[in-house]
Amino acid sequence: MLMCRDLARIASDYIDGELGPMDKVSVKMHLLMCGHCRTFIGNLRESIDLMKAHSSQQVDEELIQKIDERVAESLRLKD
Ligand SMILES: [Zn+2]
Repeated sequence: MLMCRDLARIASDYIDGELGPMDKVSVKMHLLMCGHCRTFIGNLRESIDLMKAHSSQQVDEELIQKIDERVAESLRLKD
């Protein structure tokens, strides 16, 4: 079973469509059960869309890293 912190780790790959079929199913199953992660994925997707809109070139890896860290933090707070 996929845990919230596992999902946080692979969320950006999920949004970018870079996960394998098994991982993708695991994420979807988790999202069905977990409102917290549904909100999180929604927010992350918005952030990534914003970043892409603001940069015509490459997505800022450092910014993604920062978002990931904030996500990990908020998941720890939840525990
Ligand atoms: Zn979750």
